[in-house]
Amino acid sequence: MAGGNAIRGSRVGAGPMGEVERGESAPRHRISFFCANDHETRPSFASDASVPDTWDCPRCGLPASRDHANPPAPPRTEPYKTHLAYVRERRSDADGEAILAEALDRLRSGRMPTADGR
Ligand SMILES: [Zn+2]
Repeated sequence: MAGGNAIRGSRVGAGPMGEVERGESAPRHRISFFCANDHETRPSFASDASVPDTWDCPRCGLPASRDHANPPAPPRTEPYKTHLAYVRERRSDADGEAILAEALDRLRSGRMPTADGR
């Protein structure tokens, strides 16, 4: 066992041309991005780097755009979990029990409920 020193000693990130070390003197500019929640994030870009149209907001994860008046719409991802939470919000516990009882009734009477319409 030689320990971890060999790995530690290698320089990670420095290219063969030493470009990483030049980063300090390279001109950079900050670009403001705004998300739909009115968060502003200002990542800095090297002047020769291409600036993307959208940037992920580090605070809420929504896409942010350079146009403050026109932030990108949040992506409409609706996983089943969200739907379930939505259903739970709308139904009281009593309703839930009634639905469960009804489902059990149907099972006992031998008619399988068609869950997905097939
Ligand atoms: Zn945000």
